[in-house]
Amino acid sequence: MTSNIQTPALTPEAPIAAVPTFAEIGLHPSLLQAVIDTGYTTPTPIQAQALPSIMAGNDVMGAAQTGTGKTAAFTLPILHRLIPLSNTSASPARHPVRALILTPTRELADQVYESVKRYSRHTPLRSTVVFGGVDIGPQKEALRNGCEVLIATPGRLLDHVEQKNVNLSQVGILVLDEADRMMDMGFLPDLDRIIRLLPAQRQALLFSATFSNEIRKLGRTYLNSPVEIEVANRNATADTVTQIAYPMSGDAKRAAVVHLVKSRGLKQVIVFSNTKIGCGRLARQLELDGVRAESIHGDKSQADRMKALEAFKAGELEVLVATDVAARGLDVAGVPCVINYDLPHSAEDYVHRIGRTGRAGAKGEAIALYAPAEEKYLLDIEKLIKTTVPRAVLHIPGELLARAAPREARTGASSERPARTASSGRSGERGTERSTERSTERSSERSADRPARPSRYSAPPKPIDEFFTKPYEPSPAALAAAAQANAAPAKPVLGAKRQVGLLLGGAFKKV
Ligand code: AMP
Repeated sequence: MTSNIQTPALTPEAPIAAVPTFAEIGLHPSLLQAVIDTGYTTPTPIQAQALPSIMAGNDVMGAAQTGTGKTAAFTLPILHRLIPLSNTSASPARHPVRALILTPTRELADQVYESVKRYSRHTPLRSTVVFGGVDIGPQKEALRNGCEVLIATPGRLLDHVEQKNVNLSQVGILVLDEADRMMDMGFLPDLDRIIRLLPAQRQALLFSATFSNEIRKLGRTYLNSPVEIEVANRNATADTVTQIAYPMSGDAKRAAVVHLVKSRGLKQVIVFSNTKIGCGRLARQLELDGVRAESIHGDKSQADRMKALEAFKAGELEVLVATDVAARGLDVAGVPCVINYDLPHSAEDYVHRIGRTGRAGAKGEAIALYAPAEEKYLLDIEKLIKTTVPRAVLHIPGELLARAAPREARTGASSERPARTASSGRSGERGTERSTERSTERSSERSADRPARPSRYSAPPKPIDEFFTKPYEPSPAALAAAAQANAAPAKPVLGAKRQVGLLLGGAFKKV
């Protein structure tokens, strides 16, 4: 019992009527070549609308679902506008920062950087990316070599501004990507500071997967008579994603994940947990159940996050358990299914989560596991997406249920632990942890070489397994990197950044 959500055609496979080609839009020949190299034949709807407007120099406010080709929709026209200013000089002074792209997360920053590199490969334009959680030294060096396009997370960019590694006085184009999440993560004061460093005369572009009233307000503050582009129904879900919801007790959820993955032979499934502690615990438990799983959340060091993502992208994991912050903006090709292990408390997060599957026209499935206490969140989601998510009963083999049952239920032992809600998290903990996730992300983004902060959550009185309750401990590699950085902050260490570059198929070099 599944159903497809009917929303306007949004995918490259289903372009809107009379879509002009990239050549008809008038894209520079070197960019056309890169588009052909990449294998794109037709602009997606957001690209067909945004490219001409941005190329003409307008401010643009774009609302597009994830996976609609939004990155190329702003990257290509920016490069088009910069090509006349490009040069082959070796002098850093001839390569000032002319376009600044701000993103809320490190992963998204790196993905946008990969796109910029790919599309600008036939031009002499230089680009680089800076984000927190990795050594600042190589970034400093890259900035000093000059780059026309700079992709950055706000906190780390301000670190570079404070260290005078970067001059933003010639920025003519500003992009706020995933602006809704930037607001959500408390980046507004940082944004304000950055924008005050830019010339008043500039083109500004704001992209957001969903448009809220706050985002419109932000647009009015930073943009000048923007052209509004909205290719999707507000808060709609992609029509390539089939949704279903299975009611069950909180204790049955883990068995349900194991059953779904194993019985269908699923690979590269993203399982969303609302909390960092729940995320790490679930990945560990799934491993014990014989599912190849890793977790990715804001308390993990950047190196560990990239390692998990690398294994996931390489198809080495069946499951990546993720929190919203860590998974935001990930573009992993071929994710067949996302599972909401916890329903998000914000209905908009549901739209983002299920946008990880069904990308670029591929089919995807979004499964929600919900305990009775979570039904209210499902109703909120349905209100937002204006669709009923079909319910069905999932038949889970008894032996899996028995394995996943709490130890006291299996052994008959009594427990002094506080009563749990029907869902997986401890009562009252989830909301707090969720906001901690975001603030931790933001603060660790600022810190150059600091290992991730330990979790503030205390262990329950009778821990079943210390691993599940002890705070996050940075990996030995992260600690070594931090120690090294503290000892010699200016030393150019390429390790962490090189990992990022390699992971995403590139090398840490300007283009
Ligand atoms: P984005 O929404 O920018 O994360 O892009 C989602 C996916 O769509 C990425 O994997 C892009 O490579 C892909 N994509 C972007 N533009 C096109 C296009 N015109 N045709 C086909 N695929 C595209």
